[in-house]
Amino acid sequence: MKFFIMTLFPDMVLDALHTSVLGRAAEKGLLDIEAVDIRTFATNKHKRVDDYPYGGGAGLVMQAEPIYRAYQSVQDKTQGNPRVIYLTPQGRVFSQEMARELAKEEELVFLCGHYEGIDERVLEEIVTDQVSIGDYVLTGGELAAMVMVDAISRLVPGVLNNEESAEFESFEDNLLEYPQYSRPEEWMGRRVPAVLLSGHHGKVDEWRREQSLLRTLERRPDLLEKARLTDKDRDFLDKIQKKPCEDA
Ligand code: SAM
Repeated sequence: MKFFIMTLFPDMVLDALHTSVLGRAAEKGLLDIEAVDIRTFATNKHKRVDDYPYGGGAGLVMQAEPIYRAYQSVQDKTQGNPRVIYLTPQGRVFSQEMARELAKEEELVFLCGHYEGIDERVLEEIVTDQVSIGDYVLTGGELAAMVMVDAISRLVPGVLNNEESAEFESFEDNLLEYPQYSRPEEWMGRRVPAVLLSGHHGKVDEWRREQSLLRTLERRPDLLEKARLTDKDRDFLDKIQKKPCEDA
């Protein structure tokens, strides 16, 4: 999968995204992450890419022309017509579901804003999707692009090896993952739940499913509304939800 990241800080994104799992995947040729330095497309000798906002107000706005030229340079390298994602707090909030949908694309282009944002006209001209990584404001779109590239990349076949498998993880089926344990069996007086040492796969699966339901109920009850639950899951949830009332 090929990612183009249009940014004023190419080193920031390249350093982070060529580390660990994604770095290995890039070495294997499964991922290709290219940073496109918007500043090199500035049209003035001082390489300025921002200016004051029309109508007044604080801060600077990234100008349309350098961004459009950067985008044209990307177009020269792409096969089709890739989606162009502008990272913005005003966009649709990123989710695992969106990561799965975007992982099906062969190429993606990200546009990182800075300062007060970007001249609206170039957004209208080139952007297909506006995405936020959460309801808070960052100084720039780079961290948001990195979050998205990371979450999307690990869903690309071959990027994760068996040990890092995405087989069951939080947000699959709208449930949070069950708790995980590794050696030793006892640490600081805390023992690994006995069922995990039993070697009984059926019981382990049942325990994990129940823990997953319990965690989701306690931490993210909103997810349960969209989860695909079996009758057995519902019985379990009914039972634990009734418990405090019965005890009272
Ligand atoms: N003035 C803009 C507004 O109120 O919508 C915020 C600009 S912000 C300081 C600068 C840049 O950071 C944005 O252009 C965007 O690319 C990025 N950014 C900030 N918060 C973000 C978020 N929650 N998700 C994605 N990108 C974000």
